[in-house]
Amino acid sequence: MGYCEFQIPFFIEGIRAETGQMVLGTEHHEEAERIEKETTVQVPLTKTRLEDKKTDLNFMREDIQTLFAREFDFKEGQARLVLFGRADKVIRQDKTLIISDDKHATNPRRYDAMPQPYISQLLQVLTYLDSKYYLGDSFGGWAGIPHDKKMYQINIVDSKTKSVYKTYQDIVNQTHTELLFDYLSQFTKKCLAWDVLVHHNSKPKCKACGFFENCSNALK
Ligand code: SF4
Repeated sequence: MGYCEFQIPFFIEGIRAETGQMVLGTEHHEEAERIEKETTVQVPLTKTRLEDKKTDLNFMREDIQTLFAREFDFKEGQARLVLFGRADKVIRQDKTLIISDDKHATNPRRYDAMPQPYISQLLQVLTYLDSKYYLGDSFGGWAGIPHDKKMYQINIVDSKTKSVYKTYQDIVNQTHTELLFDYLSQFTKKCLAWDVLVHHNSKPKCKACGFFENCSNALK
């Protein structure tokens, strides 16, 4: 929704679209995951280590599924939003839960003028950070990871060099929490058609969108 509200009907229908950028991103993710699996010595997670906030944890890349669930009470009725995801990287360090996500860019220099990430990128990591995590049956399935603070990291990866060009990171604060709640409540209402979809009116955004060819609202 942070990119375009008119993508919501496609998601509801289960229609996915992959841009060239997304294909490149998937290839990088698979490669990074393979390298980490081959070069890392895995230590089993125990309840004692999980519950001790002072113990640093570094979960295997792409190994942690996330589950976000929230009830909303609108004047139109009650609704429950459930979002499943998979975080690129989950770490606990110095009692801080860190979720790190890689975003690929063929022209990473366009981020030079951006002091903040795109709102869609920010909402994704904030949602992961407000989720439960699937840690296996011995931890009761979906569980929390104890921490004192939360931090997001959004790595802008240069598609050509495969190296991190820039990282946006911040400790999650009340403003982030309110932003997330605000967007997710709007998203829920728009999914239920309790609110209208608003167009961004940007031709470049439509041109870069994976639904461009099939979208009756595309600006051409
Ligand atoms: S083509 Fe344009 S209006 Fe349609 S979903 Fe994509 S960005 Fe939105």
